[in-house]
Amino acid sequence: AGLDVTDIIVLAALFVGTVAYLTKGTLWGITKNPYASSLAASHGLKPPKTRNIIEMMEESGKNCVIFFGSQTGTAEDYASRLAKEGKSRFGLETMVADLEEYEYDNLDAIPSDKVVMFVLATYGEGEPTDNAVEFYEFITSESPTFSLDNDPPLGNLNYVAFGLGNNTYEHYNSMVRNVNKALEKLGAHRIGKAGEGDDGAGTMEEDYLAWKEPMWRALAEKMGLEEREAVYEPIFGILEKYGLTRDSLEVYLGEPNKMHLNGTAKGPFNAHNPYIAPIRQSYELFSVRDRNCLHMDIDISGSNLSYQTGDHVAVWPTNAGEEVDRFLDIFGLTSKRHNVISVKALEPTAKVPFPTPTTFDAIVRYHMEICAPVSRQFIATLAAFAPDDVSKGELGKLGNDKDYFHSKVNTQYLNIARLLAKVSKGKQWTAVPFSALIEGITKLQPRYYSISSSSLEQPKVVSVTAVVEARQLPGRGDPFRGVSTNYLLALKEKQNGDPKPTPFGLSYEITGPRNKYDGIHVPVHIRHSNFKLPSDPTKPIIMVGPGTGVAPFRGFVRERRKMAESGQAVGKTILFFGCRGPTEDFLYEKDWEEAKQVLGDKFELVLAFSRQGPKKVYVQHRLKERAKEVNELLLQKAYIYVCGDASNMAREVNAVLAQIISGERGMSEAEAEDIVKQMRSSNQYQEDVW
Ligand code: FAD
Repeated sequence: AGLDVTDIIVLAALFVGTVAYLTKGTLWGITKNPYASSLAASHGLKPPKTRNIIEMMEESGKNCVIFFGSQTGTAEDYASRLAKEGKSRFGLETMVADLEEYEYDNLDAIPSDKVVMFVLATYGEGEPTDNAVEFYEFITSESPTFSLDNDPPLGNLNYVAFGLGNNTYEHYNSMVRNVNKALEKLGAHRIGKAGEGDDGAGTMEEDYLAWKEPMWRALAEKMGLEEREAVYEPIFGILEKYGLTRDSLEVYLGEPNKMHLNGTAKGPFNAHNPYIAPIRQSYELFSVRDRNCLHMDIDISGSNLSYQTGDHVAVWPTNAGEEVDRFLDIFGLTSKRHNVISVKALEPTAKVPFPTPTTFDAIVRYHMEICAPVSRQFIATLAAFAPDDVSKGELGKLGNDKDYFHSKVNTQYLNIARLLAKVSKGKQWTAVPFSALIEGITKLQPRYYSISSSSLEQPKVVSVTAVVEARQLPGRGDPFRGVSTNYLLALKEKQNGDPKPTPFGLSYEITGPRNKYDGIHVPVHIRHSNFKLPSDPTKPIIMVGPGTGVAPFRGFVRERRKMAESGQAVGKTILFFGCRGPTEDFLYEKDWEEAKQVLGDKFELVLAFSRQGPKKVYVQHRLKERAKEVNELLLQKAYIYVCGDASNMAREVNAVLAQIISGERGMSEAEAEDIVKQMRSSNQYQEDVW
């Protein structure tokens, strides 16, 4: 629908106020999940008019483009933040661009008074993100063909580079490293250092901050920019649509896209278009009362979706009603929650990250990551809109003092609404422009789960094994609860008619927008992975999966069982599983017994209980106890798989493997580590870690 003449521009013009930024040396929190993120993760909504970046920049009057290579939106988020900061602090005319949407053979024609930034995530085992594959191949090729005949080819190009990586992976930040090397080789001029953020060490934000200040100084010097008092300018205009109500058919109430709105959602279902899948059955896997682990069978037979054993399913969560209420309340939006608004980008290269017209309620419930860790820079921005001077001072302090922020905010797992309410003692923050919220809060992200079923056995049913995130924290009344897993828990409770179990059970709009998810449905898509069984089923496999890390191995074991049942020979199949104890959180005990019955000696389950007896026993200890056998299997080219906790367990398993090889084969640890590396690059050693 076009804009009504009666539409009132509520915010756009109002909030072009001068706002002092308090960003110097600040740090802001980030979702720990490497797969989380993004305010502007909106690719697919509207592709740009041209694939020529120079034309695009000229048409929109830009002198700085920030390209992102992003898989799940985090890198895209950082790109947006650089764009915003460049604009507000230095008056750069910035734009953010998806690498996939432009051609690169004219990078040599970008004039030297412009700057190109690259924010590049490294994905999986050192690979480029899907949207950066072509760029990566082009720029790192032996001699990329450019539009002009410059010598050196990129002698005019000024660039800035920041990478997002995870040091638990072997090819740490290889994207930014390799792209940087390639650009240098082509004669381009880097401004500042090529930054590297490490999600593995949990220091992405600090790394980014430590990198960006000197980079801005170098850039300002190089381009003769003067730092100015940062000005907040809204990127989005919010228009109230008085002619529409939430019953109007064109109003989005949480539907992810137009097809869903029209009720004709059809495939292809993917990261931009979820399938609203029925849940066949769901049940609890733990036998203790204070922790939950869900098993869910999701039916994809009504869709074109398919999966292979080892793939991931993405769940599109909905925020809990209590948190939606809290958020709307603190910003004084409760009475307007169902008002229909249209959101327009005021800036030609910006994209609205959700479909409109819609309502405040729908945006907050379905599209914003309102419960995530709070960004420190965002806090600093909000200080200007505080309801009183005391709150303003406190927010300023939080924004500027990393340790203070950590002790007050992170340790309590506060989200934005809880934090603001605490700071202002409940006073509402009505002066905060809604555009600032859209800009500063990331887009609600799907959560990934390792599929725990076998596609050979049940090609149209995807199983999920998810431990429910709930944490009691000292000094906080109610427990911290994860977004997606508590939504799944609520679905399971509804499906089974369970009474609301805990005093803090959350409520959800389970039936979805316009009741379209009624009858226990969940929006999902499938992501294919490289975590795969050997194509030869007679090859031995060793699986290491404590806790929910066992999820894909349930699929692997069921697959081999199914093969054996149909008369195929299968190789030795060993599973190392760990949990607290045999009567608390022992997952899928029956599955393993059944597998044993069919596979006999071919299947072995090795258990590690951490809370039995005086010593904590973990899977890596069990692996080490079996050094001789593990080594022999590896020499027979057994595949080894590790799934679950990336930071500790997977690292330790890697170390133990090297120790086993060194000990058993009588070689140095360094030589053994090389063998482990080779096993990784030949896919003999595969990880599915998070
Ligand atoms: P979230 O709300 O996303 O919170 C997750 C964590 O972020 C919290 O525990 C906390 O550490 C931090 N956090 C969130 N908000 C705050 C805050 N305000 N302040 C401070 N810290 C905060 N999980 C499984 O159970 N089973 C699987 O098979 C599985 N497979 C996976 C496969 C892949 C490839 C990946 C990437 C992840 C997988 N996960 C799996 C993890 C899963 O995707 C989710 O991360 C997990 O279920 C938690 O989601 P949530 O929305 O409930 O929690």
